[in-house]
Amino acid sequence: MNTNKIALVTGANKGIGNEIARQLGAAGFTVLIGSRDAERGAVAAKELVAEGLDAVALPLEVTSPESVAAAVSTVADAYGRLDVLVNNAAIIPAGDGPVSEVTGDVLRSAFETNVIGLVGVTQAFLPLLRRAEQARVVNLSTSLASFEQVGDPESRLSTVLTLGYNSSKAAVNMVTVMLANELRGTGILVNAADPGKCATDMGGWSTERTPAQGAAVAVGLATLGVDGPTGHVYAEEGRLPW
Ligand code: NAP
Repeated sequence: MNTNKIALVTGANKGIGNEIARQLGAAGFTVLIGSRDAERGAVAAKELVAEGLDAVALPLEVTSPESVAAAVSTVADAYGRLDVLVNNAAIIPAGDGPVSEVTGDVLRSAFETNVIGLVGVTQAFLPLLRRAEQARVVNLSTSLASFEQVGDPESRLSTVLTLGYNSSKAAVNMVTVMLANELRGTGILVNAADPGKCATDMGGWSTERTPAQGAAVAVGLATLGVDGPTGHVYAEEGRLPW
């Protein structure tokens, strides 16, 4: 019988999600490698298994209710509960840009994956999270969603002109606060993690910060003790301003 805690990371076939899965696996979790491409997920899970970790691929396209329902049913049958859900999958849509230029289709696509997909996955897995003893939900956010930081004209963040991404991640912060409020007293803690700018397909390759460094923030929130905080967003340096 598997006595490990069970963690699902969406978009875990590469980048920061892959590193979150690796670190949770090293901490003793059975990690479910959510991946919209079954083959890429299988390859990623195999790599972690080769490192001695307990990793299992789980096909999961977050924008597809059918795919999400199938994943829930697989996890329910195999484990009967979910201890940790890390909502990592996200996009910066092609054509993202400043408020004066971005199209409705681009905005819709950012919200479809980053917000509606994340909420759909969370709702669908909530019954399994409630069955765990002290479940944790971690949503990947970004300093580009911080009103205070983006609103500072002296900040580099004020020059990043991706309305779809920034505003959808600001919505993720509100999802985090509201879900934390809804689940207060249940033992389920809900927080958001800003990994910082990391070298990935999304973050670009000009930064030296590794996905492993970025993943650590989310892993800390996924493994919070019973008295841990809920309803906040954290970066490496501590709690981020809204
Ligand atoms: P990444 O390398 O682009 O990886 C994103 C992952 O999400 C991939 O596995 C991708 O799958 C998956 N994904 C995208 N859309 C999906 C969908 N509809 N269904 C299922 N999976 C989907 O990005 P990353 O840099 O690792 O970012 C991970 C998280 O950290 C994101 O939430 C991002 O916003 C956040 N973040 C990143 C940085 C940074 O500098 N990198 C900074 C702040 C916050 P495919 O491989 O199939 O595309």
